[in-house]
Amino acid sequence: MNYETVIGLEVHVELKTEAKVFCGCAARFGSEPNTHVCPGCLGMPGALPVLNKKAVELCIKAGLALQCRIAPFSRFDRKQYFYPDLPQAYQITQDDLPLCTGGKLKIVNPGGEERIIRINRIHLEEEAGRTYHSGIGATGYSLLDFNRSGLALIEIVTEPDLRSPAEARIFLEKLQEILRYVEVSDCKMEEGSFRCDANISVHPAGSQEFGRRMELKNLNSFKAIQAALAYEENRLGSLLAAGTPPVQEESRGWDETRGMTFFMRPKEKASDYRYFPDPDLPPLVIAEEWVEKIREDLPELPEEKKNRYMKEYGLSAQDADLLGGSRETAEFFEATLRLYPGEAKTVANWVMGEFARLLNLEKLTPAQSKLKPEALAAMLQMIDAGEISGKIAKTVFEEMFYSGKSPREIVEEKGLVQISDESQLAALVRGILAKHPGPVADYRAGKTKALGFLVGQVMKETKGKANPGLVNKLLREELEK
Ligand code: ADP
Ligand code: MG
Ligand code: ZN
Repeated sequence: MNYETVIGLEVHVELKTEAKVFCGCAARFGSEPNTHVCPGCLGMPGALPVLNKKAVELCIKAGLALQCRIAPFSRFDRKQYFYPDLPQAYQITQDDLPLCTGGKLKIVNPGGEERIIRINRIHLEEEAGRTYHSGIGATGYSLLDFNRSGLALIEIVTEPDLRSPAEARIFLEKLQEILRYVEVSDCKMEEGSFRCDANISVHPAGSQEFGRRMELKNLNSFKAIQAALAYEENRLGSLLAAGTPPVQEESRGWDETRGMTFFMRPKEKASDYRYFPDPDLPPLVIAEEWVEKIREDLPELPEEKKNRYMKEYGLSAQDADLLGGSRETAEFFEATLRLYPGEAKTVANWVMGEFARLLNLEKLTPAQSKLKPEALAAMLQMIDAGEISGKIAKTVFEEMFYSGKSPREIVEEKGLVQISDESQLAALVRGILAKHPGPVADYRAGKTKALGFLVGQVMKETKGKANPGLVNKLLREELEK
């Protein structure tokens, strides 16, 4: 029998706010444990929450970037559960009246098919503290760090619209790209500011009803998410094939080393949490004008940018995708283009080629690098004017990248100016021909490949500075005399 897979994701994203969501403590990653805490985020009785406006703004921003409706009226609820890293024994979240509802995100799946993935909701909530387990059994102990307690968090819930583990991964990468773009979050999976629970079910192909879902937790890389889903897809398929479909919804963990999911607990239900409106917080009423202001201030989104690059600059979909995918890269590309009158494709090639290579090597982002758009634009103009060769340009580029100097400075300092002086080159060419009678004879006997060797010799002699077009022309002229 054939089976179909259904996947829905719940993504938690830490917002880029200065302060926590309901108190004034600093929201900072990597500080000494328990240094950014106060009675509020330590859950002391009597401390009252005060909502951080910036967190609301960023949640709305995420909602608009994902084409959600922003609710003019929403509410905060308490979700009760006990865990040592949750000092109040409840989490402030939004249950039945979330801030954003009904969005969508378009992806292209591995089959090249465009798919619209609907977003059910995005709500605002607070982060829990962090537990560090050490040792096991009676000798084991746990340490608690409340710096994370109360950080501003959003939860993005998709409809069950994804149909394969690969689609789920593509969706998440796209979501990360867009949230970084609008500067809602830095979305660092390795630091936990972008986390995902993946729900999956499998049913016989053609059946109208979805199978029973499994919720996969603690997946901390894109690779783990895809691998865990693929494993679970197989496991559920085998259960169906054996005539023993799962009897209950489960929360399952992922064992990275064994490459298997494992049973953690039956899935808790909403009723287990005893949700009720938080009496310490008034309902959240959002003015239409504020939403419109945030909408106006949104940058051009990656999708729009890519379409424009293809239309305006004639770039391929792949190039447009690479350049438009990161905001800093796009800004660097566009800034260079404003200063350089030549082809957009030339700029694109340098940005995606040498620049990307060096950034990757040094683990820097475009904005962190010393190389500025002015310098690249100036260098490209020097190539166009024949002042430096394309080959020398690579050396110049690397030097600009590491020193931040202008191309002209580097060319002058290192004497890299291209030799385009015809009489100077002609003398060099004659010298080379005299030194290599073999290849000269070969060429004259019709083995035209020998020309490449001779060009190479001239370039070597001039340390790459000879104008290659001119060298070619002069060599031919001499050889055909
Ligand atoms: P809960 O908190 O109980 O997990 P949520 O509403 O937060 O509930 O999330 C439910 C998630 O499960 C959504 O992403 C939804 O798309 C997904 N989902 C619901 N039913 C199925 C199903 N049968 N198979 C796969 N995913 C499902
Ligand atoms: Mg869930
Ligand atoms: Zn605090």
